[in-house]
Amino acid sequence: MCGIVGAIAQRPVSAILLEGLRRLEYRGYDSAGMAVLEAPGKLNRVRTLGKVARLKEELAATPLPGTLGVAHTRWATHGEPAVRNAHPHVCRNRCVLVHNGIIENHEPLRQAQQAAGHAFTSETDTEVVVHAVYDELAAGYALADAVRRATTRLVGAYALGVIDIQDPDRLVAARQGSPLVIGVGFGEHFIASDVFALLPVTHRFIFLEEGDIA
Ligand code: GLU
Repeated sequence: MCGIVGAIAQRPVSAILLEGLRRLEYRGYDSAGMAVLEAPGKLNRVRTLGKVARLKEELAATPLPGTLGVAHTRWATHGEPAVRNAHPHVCRNRCVLVHNGIIENHEPLRQAQQAAGHAFTSETDTEVVVHAVYDELAAGYALADAVRRATTRLVGAYALGVIDIQDPDRLVAARQGSPLVIGVGFGEHFIASDVFALLPVTHRFIFLEEGDIA
């Protein structure tokens, strides 16, 4: 297990994301990370090995300003616990995402993506997802369509929070086999692995069904 939190709001989100991660700690994890969009094309990311408290210290030194972001606690399945393997993962300053679950067909996807010119920066199964979404964005698809098209090629389990680094007005969520809820606010929305993560910001929830993209 492990956890995802995401937010799109009209106020800074990093403290909301951090508190969400803290509330997901009970699920277990080995590393944590957060990425927040400061402006179109300007994404800032902090990742740490170990506890969310350590991520909090890093964020004190390196604040992540912005109103759209995703955060993650990782329970390593592919690739050792290490900063380079911690989420969020980024492709070519265009796409960033967090993932809970396991992509079973990551090997053939990785080989095809490497052959097509993608450079891998981690040993995770997750990284094939961010490159797959990037390819669809680069082909001209809007983010939700890009995620839909990319996920049709995935075998396995995933909950995803995805951002197009060029588009500050959209946060896309997808789930198949791993839990994910939407927290509905006023002029702001959230995603998380469970409702407990979001109780400080909303009590209204939409529970994603298997195969949903939002
Ligand atoms: N399989 C992914 C990884 O090893 C995600 C693990 C998780 O669900 O935290 O990075």
